[in-house]
Amino acid sequence: MREFQFELRVCQWAEREWPPTATAHGDETEVSHVVARQIGTKRRRWDTVVIECDPEGLRRRAAFGAAELDSDLLHVVRSAPADWEWYRDALPDPGYPWRYVRQAVHRAADRSLVERRRGANGRVELRRKWRYPDWVRRIVAIENKPDLDASAARDLAPQLERDVALALADEVWVATSATGASVEPALLEDVPVDAGVLTVGPSGSGAEVVWHPRTLAVDDPGTRIVERPSGGALDASAARFEYADPAWKADKRLELAERAYGRGWRAYADTMRTDCRHFELSVDDAGFAPRCRAKGRHQTASECSGSCADFEPEPPVWRTKGWPIEGGPGKGITRLLDRQRRRKRPGLDESDAA
Ligand code: SF4
Repeated sequence: MREFQFELRVCQWAEREWPPTATAHGDETEVSHVVARQIGTKRRRWDTVVIECDPEGLRRRAAFGAAELDSDLLHVVRSAPADWEWYRDALPDPGYPWRYVRQAVHRAADRSLVERRRGANGRVELRRKWRYPDWVRRIVAIENKPDLDASAARDLAPQLERDVALALADEVWVATSATGASVEPALLEDVPVDAGVLTVGPSGSGAEVVWHPRTLAVDDPGTRIVERPSGGALDASAARFEYADPAWKADKRLELAERAYGRGWRAYADTMRTDCRHFELSVDDAGFAPRCRAKGRHQTASECSGSCADFEPEPPVWRTKGWPIEGGPGKGITRLLDRQRRRKRPGLDESDAA
């Protein structure tokens, strides 16, 4: 199975079935989660990310809209005061020029996240509309490797070791295809013992935990492995590390959660050519997956672009019902995927666009 297809299978399964074991949450019984694909930090992007949420916090997060809040907006909404105040008095020193904060206050007000007015001497004042909730409980990062052979496991190991050392996510997993046989112990030897291993069935409708992950110390300082020697006979260089402080990690975790909230895992519809006459969504036990009628198979996100040799726009006659307001079948597919994303984000206003 191609990696893109496998990734969608893992996301669908995670959205339906997470957590994979009853013990994953300790004693917690009520939990919500949102799933996203291909998100991360400047240095590291994960294939699948599961954000385990406080259900009430997740509902309250919806007041801030369907779109993600970036780090500048988070700085504003998390510290916005209950009563009118000059933004420089109200918000913590950002560590960069205040003019950028002022721009973020305007952006936040334009998105109706806070209230803004001109106070004495024309000063920009703000006050909050809602308190930003504490909605993120745990973050789970999953690396997808449908064909986890010995060489793929060796290549993957350094990335996972970096993830474990930094401990930005609470758990790190590898998801691979179930082969019918148990995963070769030799493969597991190359995957760090702290990472969990999941095997996903061929239809994507089920997954099994082969190895349980260790819960990482997300509140402790992390170690960023900047450079590591190859370990060869001629390489006597030392590894280089950086320290990642807990406050930085907490900010990055929230930014990651916001990205997951805003994008989800169905954002492939934003870049693929849903407006091509050959684009369709196939349905099976695992859920919907993009399929190309011209190629007679599931296409990848990268090949489904304007440069695809088989691309043909939807004929205008397909768009006559409601067009140009509602668009053709391609727009219908995008709306369907958006509705599905919203179902996992309770409390969102119908009119609120992501
Ligand atoms: S023909 Fe090309 S652009 Fe059209 S759906 Fe297939 S892969 Fe996508």
